Amino acid sequence: MDSVNGASRSNETQSANASDPAQATPTASELREDELRETLRENPQAVAALDRLVADRNFAQLTDEQKVESLNSFAAAPNAATASYLQGAAELSLNPQATPSGLTPDAGTLTLDGVTYGIEQGRLLDAQGRTVGTIRNDGSLQLAVETAPRSVYDNISTRVQLQELDGTQMRNVLDLHAADPRGRLDNPNLNQEVANRVTAVIEQARREGMNMRVDTAYRSFPEQDALYAQGRTAPGNRVTNARGGQSWHNYGVAVDVVFNDANGRPSWAETNNWDRYGQIAVSQGLEWGGNWQGLVDRPHVEYHPGFDAGDARHMQQSHRQGGLEAVWDRMGIGQRP
Ligand SMILES: [Zn+2]
Repeated sequence: MDSVNGASRSNETQSANASDPAQATPTASELREDELRETLRENPQAVAALDRLVADRNFAQLTDEQKVESLNSFAAAPNAATASYLQGAAELSLNPQATPSGLTPDAGTLTLDGVTYGIEQGRLLDAQGRTVGTIRNDGSLQLAVETAPRSVYDNISTRVQLQELDGTQMRNVLDLHAADPRGRLDNPNLNQEVANRVTAVIEQARREGMNMRVDTAYRSFPEQDALYAQGRTAPGNRVTNARGGQSWHNYGVAVDVVFNDANGRPSWAETNNWDRYGQIAVSQGLEWGGNWQGLVDRPHVEYHPGFDAGDARHMQQSHRQGGLEAVWDRMGIGQRP
């Protein structure tokens, strides 16, 4: 095992370090690494990417200052593609003559603003196979016709799959489908403040390699009544205890976010990383249904400053009098003109 490997470092006994005062105090990069591990604790795939980076022999040879810099770059988008890029960057900084393969994806696809490109050795190819731009594993890309680079993480509608050759097999290092294919966050009946917060949650999740998508957002009273009937007077399983006017979805301040499976279809699987999603949602000031007692609803997030989860039913009178705007005004999140 590599002795400078970050994973093995934590396994070393303290007594081994105690005999060497120079090693007793953690370096800045070790502290930064520990901090990152703590932040990403609930996201095993991000931690695995960090393990891969710090175990890299080029990374291990960087100065401590360079390591901190590299870890800070990793923190901006902690996923396997970023780790590959930073391994390549470490190799290049040690040997400027090197041509590291980790800097750019070996294969993949990108769909940007409705146009799909193939990816080959960091080149973006159009439908005719012509090179029309470049893409790197840190997520930055540039089309030849554009004057400035952009990032795959800037727009949650971007479909991106970056692959690295691992032995003889292509391995996905980033695989994100469009996060709001039905434009639910753009529905004018969804409060803008809520849409912004949910977008920020999905952006962060995507940076961490979590392939998420909006399932439902605004739901009208009749739609809510139809859902309530399910498992009662209509076929199917019971999915809600709220009738029309009793759910925050009916007031445009609740959204259900799920995961994409490998084929870009919505997935509610237990194995999805719901805990990290909930953690990110809470950090954006949203109430997460995964924290509820009783009917746990892990895809669900809602935002209603000044009110409790069970207060939705009390909004009906405001809604009757002044529609959604009146409800939002009561919470101080009215739409800006
Ligand atoms: Zn919901």
